[in-house]
Amino acid sequence: MGLARNALLWISENRKLRQALPKYKFIRRAVSRFMPGEQLDDALAAAERLRQQSIDTVLTLLGENVTDEREARHEVEHYVEMLRQISKRGLDTHVSVKLTHLGLDLNEDLCVKNLLAIVAEAKALNNMVWIDMEQSQYVDRTIEVYKKVRKDFPNVGLCLQSYLYRTEKDLENLLPHLPAIRFVKGAYKEPLSVAFRKKSDVDANFFKLTRTLLGHVRNGAKLVVGTHDMELVCATQGEAERVGLARTDYEFHLLYGIQANEQMKLAREGYSVRVLISYGSFWFPWYVRRLAERPANIWFVVRKLLSS
Ligand SMILES: Cc1cc2nc3c(=O)[nH]c(=O)nc-3n(C[C@H](O)[C@H](O)[C@H](O)COP(=O)(O)OP(=O)(O)OC[C@H]3O[C@@H](n4cnc5c(N)ncnc54)[C@H](O)[C@@H]3O)c2cc1C
Repeated sequence: MGLARNALLWISENRKLRQALPKYKFIRRAVSRFMPGEQLDDALAAAERLRQQSIDTVLTLLGENVTDEREARHEVEHYVEMLRQISKRGLDTHVSVKLTHLGLDLNEDLCVKNLLAIVAEAKALNNMVWIDMEQSQYVDRTIEVYKKVRKDFPNVGLCLQSYLYRTEKDLENLLPHLPAIRFVKGAYKEPLSVAFRKKSDVDANFFKLTRTLLGHVRNGAKLVVGTHDMELVCATQGEAERVGLARTDYEFHLLYGIQANEQMKLAREGYSVRVLISYGSFWFPWYVRRLAERPANIWFVVRKLLSS
């Protein structure tokens, strides 16, 4: 399992394979399990379908590590249009961004400026922007950018990863700001020097972090539990109930196409659920990270190959 995960994460970061593999039809067909399409309209239509099941959504345009200022500007314009379309259709749909998609590799000030343009538009439209967390070398800068923008915009939230040893300390430092945090386990290939390897350690840390933030929800902090791990979902529900929180005082976020039955069950039971819908043409590294989360998914790709 560990070997398959490592091999897939290596593929996700390999420049040549990133260009070559998406050209194969069977891979393009297999990705449709996790992505409703490449266009904004595909994602909005999926959000409308989920709304009919009382599930709200978060949209993200796939892309990372832009190397050109104009490209980053173009992504900002796309996000602004996304926010306007969401508002026009009356959807309760947040947006999520990767800072390297907005120019973090080029220059931190440029990235802050780009993020501010998106967050300001979101605020005017009464919407919320989530910042994804990328590889560990970006954590310091991502938290810095979050803090700078959060000063004036409460409608911005940050993702933190429970596989990193440092996250407990990062959370402690953020707590005085009553942050909006989405906890996830973490999707990248990280060395043992920075990240837990064993699932039991990652899970235990996830619950520890969640329990800490739950204790601050009444004061104004916002908790999102981003996982498909039903044991963690249950543990969160139990702890939230124990401290007297209502089912809508915090949120569960899951990915489009994963545990769809559980998504509906949570919504039926009265919990706040959002599904993160990714779309766009730059889907390959993101897709391979989804395969790495559950290497059994490779059989799905193989079946698509055999049926082509
Ligand atoms: C809303 C949301 C936002 C995220 N944002 C980020 C981010 O910003 N940065 C980041 O590093 N990571 C992010 N992730 C990914 C995350 O880090 C994990 O890699 C991913 O969620 C898998 O971990 P898990 O918590 O579902 O638990 P796991 O223990 O990996 O999975 C629990 C169960 O869920 C099912 N499952 C999980 N993944 C898959 C899959 N791909 N295909 C099929 N079944 C699956 C399986 O049944 C599995 O047994 C995000 C995840 C979610 C849900």
